[in-house]
Amino acid sequence: MVGKKDLLARAMGQAGILNLMKARGQSRVLVAPAFHRVDSEAVRRFSLHCGVLDTDRSKFDAQMELVGSSFVSLTASEAGRMLAQEQAWPARPALVTFDDGYADVVTCALPVLRRHGVKATLFVAPYYVEERDVPWWDWVAHCFHHTEREEVRVGYPERCRFPMTGDGACEAAVRGMIGAIGRARDLDLGRLKAEVEGATGVGVAQSELAEHNIVTWNMLRQWIDEGHEVGAHGMRHRPLTGLSENELELELRESRRLIRERLGVNVETISYPGGATDAHVVRRARAAGYSLGLCYGGKPLLKRASPDARFAVPRQPVKAWQSLDYFHAMMTLPGLFAW
Ligand SMILES: [Zn+2]
Repeated sequence: MVGKKDLLARAMGQAGILNLMKARGQSRVLVAPAFHRVDSEAVRRFSLHCGVLDTDRSKFDAQMELVGSSFVSLTASEAGRMLAQEQAWPARPALVTFDDGYADVVTCALPVLRRHGVKATLFVAPYYVEERDVPWWDWVAHCFHHTEREEVRVGYPERCRFPMTGDGACEAAVRGMIGAIGRARDLDLGRLKAEVEGATGVGVAQSELAEHNIVTWNMLRQWIDEGHEVGAHGMRHRPLTGLSENELELELRESRRLIRERLGVNVETISYPGGATDAHVVRRARAAGYSLGLCYGGKPLLKRASPDARFAVPRQPVKAWQSLDYFHAMMTLPGLFAW
């Protein structure tokens, strides 16, 4: 399906249909492309998880050139206020978002956004900024890529055996391990790190990985000073569905509090880690003071949404395999090209 859509996007781009629609269209649908990383340098240097590398420097420049020239970019809180006040969207509204708080959003994406006059919102899990740590998927990939073992056996969170020799074995092992962790309930990160380090024989140099990968508070100040916005992405990036009441409160309230304390800004918006949300999470997010919640994937949000729909704003994931025509088609016809 994805391959067919990419072919369709390329054909529409080559036939000039996308440019024609861009020139004539007055879309009133909020399109919210969701990025994580924009630059491959640290991913290659430290063998980190490539699944969050959604574009590259030159493609991102072209993507933002399109957004800057053909869309009105809004921050998440601006979009939230417009929904709350039932204001009509401007023609072709775009909410450009980044999740997780990777440093290359400030070092690489920020100058590109500046050049094309695009406003964006970065959703951070502030535990990683404060404690100088990196998310588990990055150190899992790092350990698996650096192991010298021919087979990696882990006993937590599931019993798994991964052969490490042969073409593609390492990437398959990383995918398998990340899948197993994604299925785990009540993940014990300390236990997981000890398990992966023991099974691979590779230690995680946490502060070095964080130094080259995770934004600092000062970088976030620079981001805000240039007119962009910071939102919350939970405290430790734990999926919010299925947490105990205390843990859910901590993820929702502590993340807001710490960002406000360090940056002096009010945090009104949240991107649910992994996109995981339900009616209970929405109720608690509203009670914790948020006014907008963003999911990952789904159909685009139309204007005049119900109060609950403001806490389930769909976004269009940007992925490295997408051609520029696909991005163009997704921005222009999000109902057809969102996935
Ligand atoms: Zn995330």
